[in-house]
Amino acid sequence: MKPRVLSRALRLCLAGGLAAVLAACQSVAPSDPPLAAAPAASAPVPAVAAPAALPVAPPATATNRPRLLVFLVVDGLPQRQMLAYRDQLAPDGLARFLERGAWYADAHYGHAFTVTGAGHATVLSGTYPHRHGIIANEWRDAITGAPEYCTGDTGATYIGHKTQPLDGTSPKNLKVETVGDVLRRTDPRAKVIGISGKDRGAILPAGKTGTAYMYMTQTGQFASSTFYMPQHPAWVTSFNAAKPADRWFKKEWKALLPDEAYARSLPDRQPWYGQKAAALPMLMGAPSDEAPGPAYYSQLLRSPYADQLTLDFARAAIAGEGLGKDNVPDILAISLSAHDYINHRFSAESRFSHDHLLQLDRMLQDFFKHLDATVGRDNYIATLTADHGFMPAPEFTAQQGLRSGRIVGNQLLTRVNSGLEEEFGAGKWVSFSGSALLLNKQLITQQRVDPDEVAEEARALLMEEPGIAAAYTRRELAAGSRIDGPFFGAMQRAWHVDVSGDVQYVLKPYWMFQSSTSIATHGSPYPYDTNVPILAWGPRWVKPGRVDERVEVVDIAPTAANWLGVAPPATSEGKPLPLPTK
Ligand SMILES: [Zn+2]
Repeated sequence: MKPRVLSRALRLCLAGGLAAVLAACQSVAPSDPPLAAAPAASAPVPAVAAPAALPVAPPATATNRPRLLVFLVVDGLPQRQMLAYRDQLAPDGLARFLERGAWYADAHYGHAFTVTGAGHATVLSGTYPHRHGIIANEWRDAITGAPEYCTGDTGATYIGHKTQPLDGTSPKNLKVETVGDVLRRTDPRAKVIGISGKDRGAILPAGKTGTAYMYMTQTGQFASSTFYMPQHPAWVTSFNAAKPADRWFKKEWKALLPDEAYARSLPDRQPWYGQKAAALPMLMGAPSDEAPGPAYYSQLLRSPYADQLTLDFARAAIAGEGLGKDNVPDILAISLSAHDYINHRFSAESRFSHDHLLQLDRMLQDFFKHLDATVGRDNYIATLTADHGFMPAPEFTAQQGLRSGRIVGNQLLTRVNSGLEEEFGAGKWVSFSGSALLLNKQLITQQRVDPDEVAEEARALLMEEPGIAAAYTRRELAAGSRIDGPFFGAMQRAWHVDVSGDVQYVLKPYWMFQSSTSIATHGSPYPYDTNVPILAWGPRWVKPGRVDERVEVVDIAPTAANWLGVAPPATSEGKPLPLPTK
């Protein structure tokens, strides 16, 4: 499988009108229990505030600021998974946070459509899609229906690499500033670097004025885009010239621990994996390949080695850019992508995912050791969170006796459009856009019908579908008129008036859109998707301890701003995280 190629195929399908495929990138939701009893749901905008009773970190002054903020995002890591293997963690990887740092044990996203673009735009802006505008990974232009990609920008191209029209090359669609933007505005000498296996994982945390580098599945190299610079600095060229991605070619991904250590996760070769050979050890590169090529470089993303490569590139960035070398704080945002690819392919309950997290834990331990040696233990703060959690595979959920299901997106769309044709006449009235149905504005103008009436009918048709938990129209979301409805607050926070579609929906728990590439996914307002780790370590600034108060991911940005001695981003809606009390 080739993630970048597949993703391009998805976008092409979209362009061709098979918008249902888009929905495959979404995950969704729940409800065997009656909706009213479902979790999360319905609070108005800033859902959760830090409890007033707990102290809040005082803003840093110019003399006690960290030299470097290392901001780690593990793509697709639900908190439950980190806890499931806690006894198998290395002494100084994730355990550095859990045992010697601050651990916010009830941290959640507050927006309903928990996907990669939306999460990465949230982490350092401190705001949700209703303000930052990154409502999904892919969507359609609300007026023309043309496909859009969250970090797409036809005005920029990858440096030294081919660029397709919807490839992610800039933060053009990000409507807000990040902590890094405030930092750089305060002192332009500050450096803000974003690095990831995915373009959106690098570009969105880097903000409007940072610099992003992303992994290229065609070559196994890291590249930036012409939005950021005309050509790469020497340290990037020399990193790529050494072909570091090639060193795992024809090597095997072997489990880190003996078999008995994995008794708590699902054995390899589950029937729903869809590949008989899906087992560890796993060969990197096809047996017939004579040299590393795009298939091998894509495969790395579904193995521990993409994360190793990303952290190696981060080490090169620290040296090449002199990050953390002086008293002007820098931000190094690193998004580790492999966990998400592995979870989509095998689910978070699999041995693959279990082993990957243990391997990543050891990589983080080495990375922290490197930071201690180069930047100095008393000079940096490290944080770790995730852009979303993950649902279990529906087949696994069914084995637990819970209802679950897969929706065939294009069939659902056909049923809704047929219903609308009966009411309003022939035509394709709606298509998928992010986690919404988008009205065909041209058809509505031609037929001279009231768009609110079409949206209301589409909502009613959607609610007849077995996997849909809730749906609201543009009028309801804009007016806030259904504030007591299930998931309404989370759906409002996921919906942007200029970018989003016209009927926003949430799936029932443990339901997902069928996808040829994912046996499990994410994108719901349920705790398996919203509950992610928030961890921080930095002995001079972060008091160790566990905080059990509910906090939100939007609370990270104002906290980071305090550490760095700058104002929070202008549209930030979070509050500084409460300090641990033990
Ligand atoms: Zn993700």
